Amino acid sequence: MKKNLKGLRQEIDNVNISILEMLNKRAGLLREVVELKDEEDIQFFDAERETLMTEYILQNNKGPLYNELVKQVFAAIFSTSLKFMGKSREKKLLISSASPETYPTIQKMFKIEGDNPVIIAGPCAVEKLDYLEKVAEFLKARGIKFMRGGAYKPRTSPYDFQGLRADGLRMLRDVAKRYDLITVSEVVDPRDVELVAQHIDVLQVGARNMHNYELLKEIGQTRHPVVLKRGMSSTISEFMFAAEYIVLRGNKNVIMCERGIRTYETKTRNTLDISSIPIVKKETNLPVIADVSHSLGRKDIVNSIAGAVLAAGADGIMVEVHPFPELALSDSKQQLSMDEFDKMLKHLEKHNNYVIG
Ligand code: PEP
Ligand code: MN
Repeated sequence: MKKNLKGLRQEIDNVNISILEMLNKRAGLLREVVELKDEEDIQFFDAERETLMTEYILQNNKGPLYNELVKQVFAAIFSTSLKFMGKSREKKLLISSASPETYPTIQKMFKIEGDNPVIIAGPCAVEKLDYLEKVAEFLKARGIKFMRGGAYKPRTSPYDFQGLRADGLRMLRDVAKRYDLITVSEVVDPRDVELVAQHIDVLQVGARNMHNYELLKEIGQTRHPVVLKRGMSSTISEFMFAAEYIVLRGNKNVIMCERGIRTYETKTRNTLDISSIPIVKKETNLPVIADVSHSLGRKDIVNSIAGAVLAAGADGIMVEVHPFPELALSDSKQQLSMDEFDKMLKHLEKHNNYVIG
């Protein structure tokens, strides 16, 4: 009997639904594959598998669709599947699903739910022993627990001061020990991670290195707390993925640090993206701090911005302080003097319930 158009269309509709059901069945199987691969730490994308699947499909093609067209259809299915696998994974990032109790070291160091926000302060770079002594004594007297100082300085110009490197690490460690302070210092090269971790309590990944995945992986092998700075051209998602690189290797002690992004604005060095603070806090269980020195590049507005980031929910701030900012070998314009630092604390005491001492 000759089929009519309506009947044929009805059949096609039914076939479409069958194809959809099969595609969803395939997606369900893929989800199981992702889970298995995650458990066994197997490579996400397997190009060889795609080739083998295509060959097998073409061998079984009985037509009337030509092999070339079948290939195109399955190429689309494979690429959709990859997207689907990525998306199912995104939903369950390790940094989003673990509870704060999973991060014991930073939980202990950072009173995430405590009343006083954390302040990480210190010079841009480790320069001289007596400068560092002055800063350490000053911070200790104000109850600040974390002292920062760069020993490896990633500078925009290769002619600028590059840091004291291993000597700087030792200096920071020795001074901090005398004043019982927790040290924070940047590591820029995967080959230095071990050395920096031997001397320093909290490793820092700088904005310029947020996309240095080999560095992130290496740091992920340690169990050191890490201050991970947001890259200056990174989206919030990229920032979170960078943290995931570290956590995926087993190091759950990541502290997210918003430090501003590049925009067309020139009044500040970078544009501090305050909105990232509640977003990262909402989407991960990691502590979030904001760097009010590198984001602004100026110090006349540090007080209000420090207050603003804490009001936005930041667990702490990072700020540069130097005994003689005008003599600093790097970032001299943005480093607070000790007097200016005290004024900032007073501002936070008044506006953000910060308890000095
Ligand atoms: C720093 O904190 O010393 C630094 C270089 O900051 P950033 O990586 O955010 O520029
Ligand atoms: Mn600096």
